[in-house]
Amino acid sequence: MPNWDLAAEVRARREAGLYRRTRAIRFQGAWAELEGRRLRVFCSNDYLGLAAEPRVVQAFQRAAAEHGVGSSGAHLITGHRAEHDALEEELADFLGRSRVLLFSTGYMANMGLIDALVKPGDAVYQDWLNHASLYDGSRLSGAKVYRYPHADVAALTALLAQGEFRRRLIVSDGLFSMDGDVGPLAALAQLAREHGAWLMVDDAHGIGVIGPGGRGSVAAAGLAQHDVPVLVGTLGKAFGCFGAFVAGSDELIDWCIQKARTYIYTTAPPPAVCAATRQALRLVREEEWRRERLSLLVARFRAGAEQLGLSLMPSESPIQPLLVGDASAALVLSRGLEEDGFLVTAIRPPTVPPGTARLRVTLTALHEPEDVDALLEALARRWRQLPEAVQ
Ligand SMILES: *Cc1c(COP(=O)(O)O)cnc(C)c1O
Repeated sequence: MPNWDLAAEVRARREAGLYRRTRAIRFQGAWAELEGRRLRVFCSNDYLGLAAEPRVVQAFQRAAAEHGVGSSGAHLITGHRAEHDALEEELADFLGRSRVLLFSTGYMANMGLIDALVKPGDAVYQDWLNHASLYDGSRLSGAKVYRYPHADVAALTALLAQGEFRRRLIVSDGLFSMDGDVGPLAALAQLAREHGAWLMVDDAHGIGVIGPGGRGSVAAAGLAQHDVPVLVGTLGKAFGCFGAFVAGSDELIDWCIQKARTYIYTTAPPPAVCAATRQALRLVREEEWRRERLSLLVARFRAGAEQLGLSLMPSESPIQPLLVGDASAALVLSRGLEEDGFLVTAIRPPTVPPGTARLRVTLTALHEPEDVDALLEALARRWRQLPEAVQ
C-alpha cells in the first residue's frame, strides 16, 4: 500500500521543532503589527528600509495608474515594456556590467541560469551553504554536482582536479544569506581562471548593502565581469521591491533570452514594480547614509553582544545570526523575544544544516540605536533562561 499519511509526517516535524507556518503581519519599516501587537522587526531583508519608502511607493502607484497591474504576458510575447528596458540599463550602469536581464524572482533566475549554462557532461561546484535555488538549478540541469565545505578553497581545488568535463561552473553566494559572511570570491575567481571554469556569484543579500557604493561583494573583492561572468542579484531584499536579475556579457544575456526556461515561460514582472525598483535604485545610489547607518548599527550590535557574552558568527554585514544549535531552543528564544516585543524568526533545518538552528538577526537602516540596545538586553535575558544543556 502506498503511504499517503501526510498528517503523520507533519506531526513528526512538529515534534522535532521543525513545523513551519505563516503568520500575516502588517509590515512598515522597522515595525510590524502581529495579532494586535506592535513588534520591532529584526529579521526582514529590507536592509535599507526601502520597502515602504514613500518615494518608492509613489513611483509604484503612478506607474500602476499608467500601465495597469499585470504585465499581461511573458517578456517575449506582450509582457515587455520600456520600464523593463530602463531598469535593466540602469542596473547594468550601477554594477558596471555590459548588460542585465530581469527575472521574475531570484529563485527562477538561479534555476533558469544554471540550467541554461550546463548540462549532462558538465560539472557544477557548490558551496555547502549556497541558497536552495542554486542547488535546484544544478539538479535540474543534469550536470554533475559537487559540493564543497563552506568557503573551503582547498577542498574545491581538490574537487576541480577530478574528472573530465566539457564545462565547469563554480557557484557561490556572495554575502551568505544565513551566516552573513562573504565567500572567498577572489580565490574562487583565481581557481576558475586556472581551470577554465566560470564563476557565478549570487549576491542577493550583498548588492545595495555592502561594497563600494553598495555594489556588492563582487565589487568589494575588486572583481570585474571577466572574473565573475555570471552575477545574480535580487530586487526583493535591499531594493525593497520584487524580482531579480542576472548581469554579465552581451553573449550571456542573449543566450539566457534564448535558453533560460524560467525567463521564457513565465509572466514578466509588472511594469509598476520596475518603476518602483528604478526609484529604489536611485536611493540605493544616492543615499549613502543608509549604508553608513547600517554600519554603525552593526558595530553597536556586535559590541553589545560581546559585552553580554552572546556568541555571534563572524559577520560584518547586517545579517547577525546568533547560533543556538537546537531547533526547539531557537523556537523558545524566538517566542520569548516576541513576548518582549521583537520579531526575530527562528531559522531551522533544512534551511540551515542540522544542529545549527539560529536566530537570524538582521538590522535595517531604519532601526534606532536604542532599538538595538533593547533587543540585546532581551536576547541576553532570554538566553539565560534557556536550559543549560542548550546554552
Ligand atoms: C532570497 C534569495 C534568493 C531568491 O530570491 P527571490 O527573489 O526571493 O526568489 C536567491 N538567492 C539567494 C542567495 C537568496 O538569499
